[in-house]
Amino acid sequence: MKKYQSFVRVITGLFKRAVIESAPNLSIEVTSVCNSKCVFCPNAIMRRPRQHLDMGLYMKAVDEFAAMGGVNISFNCCIGEPLLDPHLLERARYVKQFPQIKPVWFTTTLQWLHKFNMDEFFNSGIGWLVISTMFLGRERYKSFFRVDCYEQTLNNIIALIKENEKRQTKIHLNFSLKSTGESNKEIMDHPDFKMIDTLMGGKVRQGLDNSSLFVDDWCGAVTLPKYLRKRPIYPRFFRPCRLLYRALHIFSDGKVGLCSCRDFEENSDLIVGDIKKDSLKDLWNGPKHARLVNDWCRKNVISVICRTCRHYVY
Ligand code: SF4
Ligand code: SF4
Repeated sequence: MKKYQSFVRVITGLFKRAVIESAPNLSIEVTSVCNSKCVFCPNAIMRRPRQHLDMGLYMKAVDEFAAMGGVNISFNCCIGEPLLDPHLLERARYVKQFPQIKPVWFTTTLQWLHKFNMDEFFNSGIGWLVISTMFLGRERYKSFFRVDCYEQTLNNIIALIKENEKRQTKIHLNFSLKSTGESNKEIMDHPDFKMIDTLMGGKVRQGLDNSSLFVDDWCGAVTLPKYLRKRPIYPRFFRPCRLLYRALHIFSDGKVGLCSCRDFEENSDLIVGDIKKDSLKDLWNGPKHARLVNDWCRKNVISVICRTCRHYVY
């Protein structure tokens, strides 16, 4: 079924006319610090500095984004765990003052939720979390995330679900379930899965339906374990990745790029500027962005990083 859906997406994508959106979605790498070393992530080999984004630069970016009419901000990091950012709640509260901007969301392992005061966490304006995790016991968790944080994570998930039940303003929870090659039946039979799925009213199973053993290998930088398979490299002749039409990404050192997820060393030609000296509007409407899209569209000149990227979006 999934193969069929991917095929249909690719074919219909070929006929859709892509237009650069007037205001992008903005993803902000609030921190590039992450304690995990997930088997499918280049965190363990990343050489750039691990740091939290300066608060002044962050505010400049949000102010400029709001002035552009932007509405979607996420704290999704290229590499990084947002809950390890000491300014996380301050940042969410800052966004909240702009009514046009939707509540922020981000992906997290939730390993560090216990460090936060729950009243502050829920009142900060965080609207949605994608929890990247598994419910298959400590040893399998350790072998995938390569940290010994299973019980801590499980307790945090239970605490968050229970807090959510108590509160009027809820945080929307999604699960991005990982496995080490187990069948859906084996996953669903695990007592921890059953417990969390029951607490969530059966919604975790939906995450299981959406999970996939097909992943990207970051242009060959990551050697995947045998139970994960590489996504196919879809044809992209004259058809720029959709991210180039709709997203800007601010890295934790202030650099601004067009790819929010694969340029893990920030050293590709998709880096268009730096929030320290450039305005977001100028970068989004600027000549470098236009050239990258037009070169791909009209001459099939594709940025090196995009040529073999398995995360390419139609
Ligand atoms: S996938 Fe996310 S949680 Fe895992 S190592 Fe990479 S940055 Fe950290
Ligand atoms: S093709 Fe890959 S590297 Fe290029 S913009 Fe899309 S996701 Fe990023």
